[in-house]
Amino acid sequence: MKDTYRHKGMRNQLAELLMEKGITDTKVLNAIREVPRHLFMDSSFEGHAYQDKAFPIAADQTISQPYTVAFQTELLQLEPNHTVLEIGTGSGYQTAVLLKCKAKVYTIERQLELFKKTNLFFKKMGYRPKKFVFGDGYKGLPEDAPFDRIIVTAGAPEVPKALMSQLKVGGRLVIPVGFEDQIMTLLERTSEKEFKKTEYGSFRFVPLLEDKN
Ligand code: SAH
Repeated sequence: MKDTYRHKGMRNQLAELLMEKGITDTKVLNAIREVPRHLFMDSSFEGHAYQDKAFPIAADQTISQPYTVAFQTELLQLEPNHTVLEIGTGSGYQTAVLLKCKAKVYTIERQLELFKKTNLFFKKMGYRPKKFVFGDGYKGLPEDAPFDRIIVTAGAPEVPKALMSQLKVGGRLVIPVGFEDQIMTLLERTSEKEFKKTEYGSFRFVPLLEDKN
């Protein structure tokens, strides 16, 4: 599998579509233009990679819709060298978008099959997260905390307390909260004890599950 001008052209069109849908952050749009999403997907779906849709990956999981990836990344308001904890690596596409935005990424996946597959893929592609951990994202990564930003890419019944405690004061945590559908939720840590919550639209994610598998 390789990247071609045709793929690049389709990515430019996808970025145009995301702008029409309201994404404005230039570095996010540039990351969408650069990251070869078709290489993160099973070859049977590769032809659809630049549609704005989620698709199945291994272990009954999905690669998030590009709009969702762009929306969550924009909400993070990333600055270069921010440390970002990502829960739910999956295909690694969101991870790659964060890396293109110059973040230092710590990412956790609970499905062993996906962890192994994506780990090999990152090496092959030269994507270098600071850490890629097989584990339970509910617990976060206490040894590397606190983080400037935290992003959860699976639907959580509630915001895990461990993740709130691992966010820097002034940091932003973006997480879809709910069961069937989820409300995209932004928590800004305004002081040691206070968080400001803002809710955005409704999205649909696979569930955030406890323990690794
Ligand atoms: N950002 C990914 C989304 C994958 S779907 C992509 O675009 O490819 C969500 C992922 O979260 C799945 O891979 C699932 O296995 C993982 N996940 C669910 N609960 C988790 C947990 N507690 N800790 C870490 N990963 C989890």
